[in-house]
Amino acid sequence: MPKKIMTYCPYCKKHTSHSVERVRKRKASELKAGQRRFRRVTSGYGGFPRPKFEGREKPTKRVALRLVCDECHKAVTPPGIRAKKFEIVEA
Ligand SMILES: [Zn+2]
Repeated sequence: MPKKIMTYCPYCKKHTSHSVERVRKRKASELKAGQRRFRRVTSGYGGFPRPKFEGREKPTKRVALRLVCDECHKAVTPPGIRAKKFEIVEA
């Protein structure tokens, strides 16, 4: 994937140059609602709140992207693409 792509910007309402950024998973914040619920629910007696994962791992992972418009600097999140290997190259 090239670092810059021409694509539609819904804010500029036309095709503009966008910089591609990969979104990585970061550590769950202890203050976020989901993490607070998780802490409350896992504390004490009563087991883990989510079902145990069964089955194999998928051979491809969906890559989360962020496209930042070079004209208005607003970001759009396109539907991720599935790939075994993904890298952003200078082009
Ligand atoms: Zn724009």
